[in-house]
Amino acid sequence: MKTIPNILILLGVSLSGAVLGQTAKTDFDYTAIQPGSYDGTWWNRTPIRLIQTNFPAVYASMAVDDYVDALVDASANTVLFNTGGIVANYQTKLDFQYRNPHMGERDFVGELIEHVHEKDIKYIARFDFSKLHPSIADKHPEWLYVGTYGQNQTFNGLVSTCINGAYYQEHSLDILKEAIETYPLDGIFFNMMGYTGATYSGEYHGICQCGSCKRRFKESTGLDLPTSNDDSHISEYRRFQQETSRELYTKVTDFIKATNPNLIIYNYNDVGTSWIASESGGTPLRNGPEYIYNATNNVKQVLGSYKDVSPVNLTMGFLAIGYRNIMNNPNLLRGWMLENMLHGAPLGFVVVGTLNHYEDRVFLPKVKELYTFHKTHEPLFTNVQSVSNIALIQDRGGEDARGMIRLASEEHLMYDIINPSQIGGTRLPRQLEDYELVILNNVAMTDKELATAVSDYVKKGGKLLVLGSAVANGIEKGTGTFSLETLGVASVVDVFPKAQATYLKVSPTDQQLLSQSKEFSLMMMNARFLQCELTPGAKGYLRLLPTNLYGPAEVTWYEESQITQYPGVVYNDSGEGKTVFIPWDIGAEYEQRGNYAHRSLLLGTIKNLLSVDNTVETDMSPTIELTRLANRNGQFEWMGMINHSGFLGNSVREPITITNTSLKFKPLKPVKQVRLVNAETDVAFKEVDGWIECTIPRIADFEMLLCLYE
Ligand SMILES: [Zn+2]
Repeated sequence: MKTIPNILILLGVSLSGAVLGQTAKTDFDYTAIQPGSYDGTWWNRTPIRLIQTNFPAVYASMAVDDYVDALVDASANTVLFNTGGIVANYQTKLDFQYRNPHMGERDFVGELIEHVHEKDIKYIARFDFSKLHPSIADKHPEWLYVGTYGQNQTFNGLVSTCINGAYYQEHSLDILKEAIETYPLDGIFFNMMGYTGATYSGEYHGICQCGSCKRRFKESTGLDLPTSNDDSHISEYRRFQQETSRELYTKVTDFIKATNPNLIIYNYNDVGTSWIASESGGTPLRNGPEYIYNATNNVKQVLGSYKDVSPVNLTMGFLAIGYRNIMNNPNLLRGWMLENMLHGAPLGFVVVGTLNHYEDRVFLPKVKELYTFHKTHEPLFTNVQSVSNIALIQDRGGEDARGMIRLASEEHLMYDIINPSQIGGTRLPRQLEDYELVILNNVAMTDKELATAVSDYVKKGGKLLVLGSAVANGIEKGTGTFSLETLGVASVVDVFPKAQATYLKVSPTDQQLLSQSKEFSLMMMNARFLQCELTPGAKGYLRLLPTNLYGPAEVTWYEESQITQYPGVVYNDSGEGKTVFIPWDIGAEYEQRGNYAHRSLLLGTIKNLLSVDNTVETDMSPTIELTRLANRNGQFEWMGMINHSGFLGNSVREPITITNTSLKFKPLKPVKQVRLVNAETDVAFKEVDGWIECTIPRIADFEMLLCLYE
């Protein structure tokens, strides 16, 4: 490390800088750090920076050099490029693949791969078998999707195919074989591989009624195809969709691996894939604010659930499906991209067109800035994993999941997200026993492996927080080792439906549960609620106050006698472990309203009932999302800080610089140096009883506090 040159001190630069919360920059050689390798692959827990140029066919006469120069300038090390399917950007010999007329006689894909490989950029070939050019579709009506009323689906001249037809089932493999055997690809990506849904404009033509679907459904179930969601056999059809989709993914991915085992496979599900795709943005046009933790939700779900795959979450540059030629809010996109980066996931960016052609260039300098930062500090993004004491078991889709991410981010809790489907399997990076607290967030206990794992965790002394009413759904299908008695519930007497003017009464003795705000004796409860009878040893807190009068004001009150015996929180000692059960959907409530009383209750149950403390003590603003990762090779750990303070709902503005934030934490190993990576400066720190204490002078849009081990 270099010291501050005396000349700066003489000029008063460091002094005035200190007053402003700025410190002189110092050099640091990041290439000297040896992060080691996670599993020896080039693609798992490695510093990937992918740019996907979703390529309009008309640009196929472009100069390849210009295209590649723009990728190099943006510090990308992986490109995803439209190769075959809807349009073949190479001289395909297959008569069922439409050759791009705009490329003329050139070997467009061949030229591109040669040029990107010269610059050490990996090439992922994008295929889309969901639609056909009409010149091919007209010859093969049996390959096409057929809507409820017997019509094919055509949008912008392209005709939708059906995954049960021979194009998907057989000829897609011919296309893949041709491309894999002709070009030195690094990977394969599938777009929209699955059953035909709504068109880009949102028009849905119903369950496919093509001959292949009819035949396969009949063979599989003995039934006729349903035509609507109200059909009595719709659940059999949904299961059929799942099974046939999975069968096709397996067939295609097995075929790719057999043809070239070195190729990685990138897709939206976990069947045979190396990278699981997800997207931040790129939705149909809609009103209202975006979910600021969207990328966090996407990447942490994969990082916490699979050790053998990586999440490549795409920051979708364009504003909406119907506005593909202009950018979304650059501050929103930056926040999502930072979430990818500071949770230790690859970077991914989608532009519809190329970096050269795109007309709205507002966000492009930020892409370059963040990608270049990532490239400069590659060792810090290599072979890292989160340092978390909480496992949040939840499914990505719901409001409950988003609400708990919101709470954890605002309160700087350190958590991993685990998909319930992976519990008890062999792909988990960490087992439940490694966590101080497991939160089961509105998950139905229908899966035997999940029920067994959660039950074992508690028996061995674990602390379990169960949120939401879904835990009782299908519990009898789980295993006898987990029952509602584990949670201190003897029986569910009834389910109280979501209704207005419904409260929880907070008694003086309930106050001990609360954290932060305590100045209330009524709490909102606008959710589905399980009315539970408790087992003798269990303890209930808060009481359900069912719907009461709320208008006009003259009659807005309740009687004490209306307060029920049914608790809003149940505490139980179960074997060696402890459980807390909140039998209503509090996660979704927090997502909908961010209510202080709900926050106080959730934090209180974690801290006061289950005695789980934050592993990081800080006065950090709730608008800063904090992450913590450590190198598996024992070289360093770091905390990432994403400044969301510019989030004002629909208009996301520049974040406010936040000054003088204190941090206290216990590093995994003794620390010799603490450095702010974005500010390019070292930080003075104190070490007390193995805890590091320091102050971060300023956090602009993001920061990384790096601790180098002795
Ligand atoms: Zn079909």
